[in-house]
Amino acid sequence: MPTLFIVLPCYNEEAVLPSTLHALHEKMSALMSAGRISAESHVVFVDDGSRDRTWEIIEQAHAEDPLFRGIALSRNRGHQNALLAGLMTVKDECDAVITMDADLQDDVDAIDGMLEAFAQGNEIVYGVRSSRKTDTFFKRSTARMFYRFMNMLGAETVADHADFRLMSAKAITALESFEEVNLFLRGIVPLLGFKSEKVYYERKERTAGETKYPLKKMLSFAFEGITSFSVKPIRMIALTGALIFFASVVMLVYCLIRHFTGQTVSGWTSLAVSIWALGGIQLLSIGIIGEYIGKVYLESKKRPRYIIDKYLK
Ligand code: UDP
Ligand code: MG
Repeated sequence: MPTLFIVLPCYNEEAVLPSTLHALHEKMSALMSAGRISAESHVVFVDDGSRDRTWEIIEQAHAEDPLFRGIALSRNRGHQNALLAGLMTVKDECDAVITMDADLQDDVDAIDGMLEAFAQGNEIVYGVRSSRKTDTFFKRSTARMFYRFMNMLGAETVADHADFRLMSAKAITALESFEEVNLFLRGIVPLLGFKSEKVYYERKERTAGETKYPLKKMLSFAFEGITSFSVKPIRMIALTGALIFFASVVMLVYCLIRHFTGQTVSGWTSLAVSIWALGGIQLLSIGIIGEYIGKVYLESKKRPRYIIDKYLK
């Protein structure tokens, strides 16, 4: 029987926490009595520097029921960092961790499927939304665009998967060796490799409280995702530069023809050609410098170059 920990980041979730506590208590008890998880399994709430009564609710739940545990972060560090804090804190005490949102949007009944996939030897099980019906049209279309763009740029994200996933202790240990400061778990976890599986679930509406991801945070999250995983934007600058420089050569020929056929005002040829040529060379140079900065940037992340799955001796 595996020991399962559930990690939930919470930021100002006082409105929804009571129902979350109830739902998880039911689920965990059912799984324990069915003998699917060990009695040492726990639910861990990570309070991400909430300013409301979130932490008091967690403390009280812990006092009443040892099933519940809490980790308080020193300040608000954002969803991704809160998740990482939870994972790293509990990884040595369990066989697997499921991360999910505190607002009950992730279906607790999908946990069964995740455990099944874990029992079959998967180290990572992704919770994937079977549809986006409950999203607004805006969120649905921007999310679709984002995943498509990310994959185009070469980051392998799992489409329609957020942070509802099961990770084995082994996968979490591997994750630990990624020392990036700009954390984007959705992009990193697929890089870990290992045997993985997807479990589909219907994402519900937020049970109570309101979203902690307003448009501004969503945009900065998307930008973080792109710039943490791809140097392609820099390549695009270099490419534009090369194209404009090529255009300048064409312009040079054109201007010279105009010049020698005498159809120009004096001074026009040199001016026109230098504008194009200089602009192109500048962009191209920025792109090349950017290429090196990109390398420094990837190096400074100190990402591991390999991860060992099994060790026979
Ligand atoms: N969250 C967090 N820190 C933050 C923002 C959000 O820990 O700075 C948590 C939040 O409490 C929730 C999860 O991240 O458990 C997802 O946030 P939310 O439900 O507001 O996002 P949405 O589902 O609207 O995208
Ligand atoms: Mg939510």
